[in-house]
Amino acid sequence: MAGRVVVVFDFDKTILDCDSDNWVLDELGVNHLFTQLLPSMPWNSLMDRMMMELHSRGKTTEDIAHCLKQAPFHPRIISAFKSAHSAGCDLKILSDANVFFIETILKHHGLLDCFSEIITNPSLVDNEGRLGILPYHDFKSCSHNCNICLPNMCKGLVMEKIMKISCESSKGKKKRFIYVGDGSADFCGGLKLVEGDILMARNKFPVWDLIISSNPLSIKAHIHAWNDGEELGIGLVNLINTIFIQDNCSCEPGNADFKSQTTSLSHDSSFSIDDMVNS
Ligand SMILES: [Mg+2]
Ligand SMILES: [Zn+2]
Repeated sequence: MAGRVVVVFDFDKTILDCDSDNWVLDELGVNHLFTQLLPSMPWNSLMDRMMMELHSRGKTTEDIAHCLKQAPFHPRIISAFKSAHSAGCDLKILSDANVFFIETILKHHGLLDCFSEIITNPSLVDNEGRLGILPYHDFKSCSHNCNICLPNMCKGLVMEKIMKISCESSKGKKKRFIYVGDGSADFCGGLKLVEGDILMARNKFPVWDLIISSNPLSIKAHIHAWNDGEELGIGLVNLINTIFIQDNCSCEPGNADFKSQTTSLSHDSSFSIDDMVNS
């Protein structure tokens, strides 16, 4: 069932409580080389270079996958995904990580089927077993001209596409978008939301700093802050439940279960940007 509520998630430091790139580089012992080379190369190209380095040091894609499966993932987020998916929400990932990292982690936690789409940098494993990482946007041939995002992906541009396609498929019925993220590029994605949508921004992270320093009229969505996986999981379930009640769509399959799961959750973690600014 195409969801009336579309939830778009960043991956690193949002779904995962760390950056998956840094996690792999750290765990497999090439972080020092990465830090040395970072001033001279774009992040995405350097990650591809580091995968080549790991291959030359005898590390296999199985070693990388084993390492990814250990990355910190809050159980409250896992249960929130399952609840939202079974309630009929359309869940998507929009991330500057890569297909191999994200799919490995989601499969490990039994969550891959919860997502209708994973929009991220492509990855491939060549004949010699080396993992390669490519840019989502080919910035060597042309620039996306966004000065908030990294050259290989503008999340605002992708959000525009997601919103356009989702709205075309809903035959005139208004879709409600929730965007969840922590980074600067997530601010760019959040700028595309309209009134009635929700931006779930991680408190004290770059997305939050940009919200505070930007023109208050630039974000049209309601802003909901969260601090950690516990607050994100509870907040997401509560917000979706509120939308269902507002839209009076309790007849949708799965909603009864969804509500019974959410009634015991506290609403205390939900606070607005006004609370933050005034505190
Ligand atoms: Mg992130
Ligand atoms: Zn952008």
